Amino acid sequence: MAIDRLLADEYPEAICELDHRNPFELLAATILSAQCTDARVNMVTPALFARFPDAASLAAAPPGELEDIIRSTGFYQSKAKNLIGMAQGLLDRFGGEVPTALDDLVTLPGVGRKTGNVVRSVAFGLPGLPVDTHVLRLSKRLGLTTLDDAVKVEAELGRYLPPSRWGEFSLRIILHGRRVCDARKPACDVCALEFLCPSSQLPRKHQRKIKNPT
Ligand code: SF4
Repeated sequence: MAIDRLLADEYPEAICELDHRNPFELLAATILSAQCTDARVNMVTPALFARFPDAASLAAAPPGELEDIIRSTGFYQSKAKNLIGMAQGLLDRFGGEVPTALDDLVTLPGVGRKTGNVVRSVAFGLPGLPVDTHVLRLSKRLGLTTLDDAVKVEAELGRYLPPSRWGEFSLRIILHGRRVCDARKPACDVCALEFLCPSSQLPRKHQRKIKNPT
């Protein structure tokens, strides 16, 4: 896919911007990242993981203390509930370890397909195509989908690429969404995908034709 190749040139290191040292930390950090920036989550997680380093300690966390630690990430009461429930789920059903199967991950409180796919692709190096708000927006702008439903978009994007490419593709689309293709003010004049983007805001004469952008 041309878009995948161009993004790989633009962002040679496909990185997840949530600080973590193991699958448990990534899972917890991704739950906290809902409606919150990764930078804010990264300010909170050192204290969180110092106090609750594993599923056993997090499952037994006093809710009020946990809420105080994660308060600045927003929606802290429901996130605290999900973190404790997630940790209890790990203990009760997965021997305290983070499962690798998406069907298992999505049974944990606070874990949807996006979070499950982040954990699969980033922590375990397994196929997973997280579709967040950036992936949805850019996929539409780039003409890769006309759909709004994240699950359907995940399936559609997955058909363009081999499973081994899904995770990095998602990470790079997210980086491009954050750094260039902003929701309100896309920087089309510096965008490496501009020449093939049907949503470019530059005059058409700047665009080169490409036969098959996907
Ligand atoms: S050309 Fe503009 S709208 Fe298209 S991907 Fe680039 S920044 Fe986004």
